[in-house]
Amino acid sequence: MATFDVESQLDVQRIRADFPILHQVDEEQHPLVYLDNGASSQRPNSVIQCLSNVYEKHYANVHRGAHRLSGESTDLFEEARRAVQQFIGAAFENEVIFTSGTTMGINLVARSWGDANVTAGDEILLTEMEHHSNLVPWQQLAQRTGAKIRAIPVTADGQLDLDSLSVLLTERTKIVALAAVSNVLGTINPVAEIAKEAHAVGAKVMVDAAQAVPHEAIDVGGWDADFVAFSGHKMLGPSGVGVLYGKHALLEEMPPFLGGGSMIDVVEIDRFTPAMLPAKFEAGTPPIADAIAMKPAIEYLEQVGLARILQHEQSLAAYAHELLADVPGLKILGPDVSKKAGIVSFVIDGLAASDVATFLDGRGIAVREGHHCTLPLHKKLGISASVRASFYLYNTREEVEKLADAVRTTVEFFG
Ligand code: PMP
Repeated sequence: MATFDVESQLDVQRIRADFPILHQVDEEQHPLVYLDNGASSQRPNSVIQCLSNVYEKHYANVHRGAHRLSGESTDLFEEARRAVQQFIGAAFENEVIFTSGTTMGINLVARSWGDANVTAGDEILLTEMEHHSNLVPWQQLAQRTGAKIRAIPVTADGQLDLDSLSVLLTERTKIVALAAVSNVLGTINPVAEIAKEAHAVGAKVMVDAAQAVPHEAIDVGGWDADFVAFSGHKMLGPSGVGVLYGKHALLEEMPPFLGGGSMIDVVEIDRFTPAMLPAKFEAGTPPIADAIAMKPAIEYLEQVGLARILQHEQSLAAYAHELLADVPGLKILGPDVSKKAGIVSFVIDGLAASDVATFLDGRGIAVREGHHCTLPLHKKLGISASVRASFYLYNTREEVEKLADAVRTTVEFFG
């Protein structure tokens, strides 16, 4: 396979050699073409080895025992926190809270910060392109408090309608919650610009960075985001672990979300005092080995370079746009390719997305179909489902060609 990508200067062949799962073939000998990275990425040997190394040599519960193993696992766990801190440009390591993923991070903020700061008549500003993870927790907050949900519209070309901000942002707006990158349209949203306008009316900003942190260099300070959530499993790390970043002063004043072991300073029979950050938000036994393995995942991304990774994915997306352009009846969702990350979602006239995905699967090509947890966006687009190909650092131009060929064959097959 010719896998040195001239466009992005990425040695994809070398990268692919690090990912054991990519080298399999199906029963009909089709090599796996993994284009479902938006749902979950695969992981390199260094991450897999880190996990087994922790379980073979260093595993014990963290922050508890006085024994050697507990000390070792605690050190590794806290080292991983520092790796995340520098990776996202957080000012303090205790601004990094380990969670189970993006969903939990957003729920934590909606419950803890939301219940303490949002009241009846307040407004929560979302966008029409949000994942259900960044919709439902805010709807639940609105139900509990009597706050109103408003949403920044998506324009016909798949971008946020920034002109609407002057009307939608008011002194009643308490928080603006938005995705940095849409998991369907691929749109890269201008987070810093929106954060500036939100802050001007006194609102806080929650960034769903699930589709951003794995693919572009993030600086939470540059965004001036108040909260940022993302998941390990989409960025070469393990499933079951994620990160919530929050500005120190905000996290300090927020009440704990989950109660239990580790998150307390003192407990009496009828009361407790919460622990300091970050323990206050890490009740119970955390995903120990998974959090530790975030460090090699970050190291891998940094070694390849986030700027080159984004450039590579964008060049694959541009190639997919080019090759899919003349497939009869096919429409790509979202903005012009220059404004998006490596996500290409499409619909084909008269064809069910599930049929297309099943047909592609028969050729070893893994894509996602459905509403991708964005029912309001699909409703707005007037469709019930779409097919999504999402690229990562190990995908090749040849794989894009296979996708386009198979899509063309699908259209011919279903006639
Ligand atoms: N937000 C976005 C934009 C996503 O793409 C996803 C994952 N599909 C999530 C939130 C939820 O992430 P997780 O399931 O890891 O909590």
